Amino acid sequence: MSVFLTDGYGRTIRYLRLSVTDRCDLRCVYCMTDDVVFLPRRELLNFEELDRLSSALIERGVDKIRITGGEPLLRKDILQLFQSLGRHLSSGALRELTMTTNGTQLARFAQALAAAGVRRINISLDTLDPARYAAITRHGDLAKTLAGIEAAQAAGLKVKLNAVALRGVTEYEIDDLIAFAHGRGMDLTLIETMPLGHLDVDRADQYLPLDELRSRMAKRWTLAEVDEHTGGPARYMRVGETGGRIGFITPMSHNFCETCNRIRVSATGRLYTCLGEHGGADLRMALRGSESDDKLNAAIDRAILRKPKGHDFEIRRHGEPALERPMSVLGG
Ligand code: SAM
Ligand code: SF4
Repeated sequence: MSVFLTDGYGRTIRYLRLSVTDRCDLRCVYCMTDDVVFLPRRELLNFEELDRLSSALIERGVDKIRITGGEPLLRKDILQLFQSLGRHLSSGALRELTMTTNGTQLARFAQALAAAGVRRINISLDTLDPARYAAITRHGDLAKTLAGIEAAQAAGLKVKLNAVALRGVTEYEIDDLIAFAHGRGMDLTLIETMPLGHLDVDRADQYLPLDELRSRMAKRWTLAEVDEHTGGPARYMRVGETGGRIGFITPMSHNFCETCNRIRVSATGRLYTCLGEHGGADLRMALRGSESDDKLNAAIDRAILRKPKGHDFEIRRHGEPALERPMSVLGG
């Protein structure tokens, strides 16, 4: 067994996205249905298991962890997890500990997260219009997320905003989002909606290809290619008028799998080596079956070797989702 996690295509895994809950206080229309049923709590990895799994992966070369969900800040022991994983930042084994959040709870947590060693976070925000925010999130309160953004910046966290490109929404919101984000020193990343999970609406009606949105943006803003690679799937452009950056994540229209160095673990401990993978590998059984990490490492090794070359999503009108699993199971 090599210490490092290298897949069958020679890609070395360095980045873990760890979902800590499938629960959420919002019900974004592109993510889940209004009547979604969440998992019983006993199915989720507990705090010790999350810590042990993360630490085992750090020993195998993972140096960046993004905590996600569902809404990660809804977990009662979330701060304890950040504080505990912070020891790997202090030792230098972990380069970065970060999070994706909808921001609604962030005003309460921002200071403590910064104290635990978090330096940057992603906050999801699709609109600056309170009524549209309530419609997209099904009753969410924009003011809470805005307060979360403010608290995060006040705590010294570097914030990046994520917006899912939605037809009929983002075309009208994009100018305000750019001005808001760049006016506060934040990058803005746009994401194409992916066919994960069943919705109450036809996803084909929501899908707005980023090539189309970028052409629209170019009429108002001066966009210049940025020759910076963050190692992630986003391609960045700089907006001449603001000096800020816009990232484009295009899993639908162009995929970015050749350089993928990431794996994902669901809140129940299933390891997915690709967002498009169906079953995943059960690490919870390996964690619960033995106090030694041997079985866990063997299960991880087997899964990594099966990492597919890439994903291939397609959104068809009235089509079935590529996967039954919504994005909230594995997070983004
Ligand atoms: N609740 C947190 C949040 O919203 O930031 C973390 C989990 S959420 C699933 C992570 C990201 O996935 C969010 O930026 C969200 O907008 C995005 N997302 C959710 N469903 C998506 C989909 N079907 N296609 C593309 N992005 C999606
Ligand atoms: Fe919740 Fe995030 Fe999904 Fe919205 S995108 S419903 S905030 S998990």
